[in-house]
Amino acid sequence: MLLKKSYKEITLDILKRFNIDIEEEIMQKAVSLYDTFDDANDPTPLKQIEDDLFVNELYHGPTRAFKDMALQPFGYILSHLAQKLNEEYLILAATSGDTGPATLDTFANKPNIKVACLYPDGGTSDVQRLQMTTQKSDNVKVIGIHGNFDDAQSALKTLLASPTFKEALEKKGIKLSAANSVNFGRIIFQIIYHIYAYVAMLKQGKIKNGEPFYTIIPSGNFGNALGAYYAKKMGLPIEKILIASNINNILTDLITTGVYDLRHRHLLQTTSPAMDILISSNVERVLFDKLGATRTKELMDSLKEKKHLYP
Ligand SMILES: *Cc1c(COP(=O)(O)O)cnc(C)c1O
Repeated sequence: MLLKKSYKEITLDILKRFNIDIEEEIMQKAVSLYDTFDDANDPTPLKQIEDDLFVNELYHGPTRAFKDMALQPFGYILSHLAQKLNEEYLILAATSGDTGPATLDTFANKPNIKVACLYPDGGTSDVQRLQMTTQKSDNVKVIGIHGNFDDAQSALKTLLASPTFKEALEKKGIKLSAANSVNFGRIIFQIIYHIYAYVAMLKQGKIKNGEPFYTIIPSGNFGNALGAYYAKKMGLPIEKILIASNINNILTDLITTGVYDLRHRHLLQTTSPAMDILISSNVERVLFDKLGATRTKELMDSLKEKKHLYP
């Protein structure tokens, strides 16, 4: 059934199943942003590199980060809702290099939206830093912090959870939201390209319908991998999700030993800054799915207070 459909049509089909309370027309306009990608007919080309190995190219959007896949439509929808409800939003973003440019691109000059973006000064590539600091629109503010990505993201989470900050914003009639994958609006769009990759393999006649496959996902905050995890739960025949890390491989530890231990870890800067993360946000969502709310809360509290968790 999906075989004859385009990326956009499949996206709309899948989003419908989530019963999101947003008009069809708005959804259509949001996903039509994929038309601005390198190839409007194929925003995520699937390339074969060996007999049984494919690459899902997610870098064909305006900022070249795969974050565009979610942030382009998400930015449109949020700005539309803000205008419709006559609300002003402050969007916070913490970035290790790629989320920042993609967030700024999608929200630049959008009515009813302001963006504050925190990045680790010296922790991103020069191209990423310039993508952010040369952004000219006057509704965005980019701040290089003395610290690493975990510091930036933890500042973001503190602000999101702070009643005094919210109150101060409310007095000015401003609501608060986030552009990181702590926001589920990101994850929902990141489920779709995993499904589409399978559709593309079917279209190219490389796999039989229902035949299982492995997917390998470079991970930092675990948003991309979480999208695959949810796609599997929705019925996509993923046999295994393999998580690729750099030297900041705390997720490797968690998956191979079952322990998440920050006590003897220091974040190390690498040439893959998007994966220079030790406090990986979306792990909480997997724990929640596997262990339920109460146990997840205990584990997350343990991680915060004792710097380790043992699921
Ligand atoms: C964001 C990003 C990652 C990490 O993805 P998560 O969803 O945070 O796990 C890895 N590589 C690149 C190039 C990225 O932009």
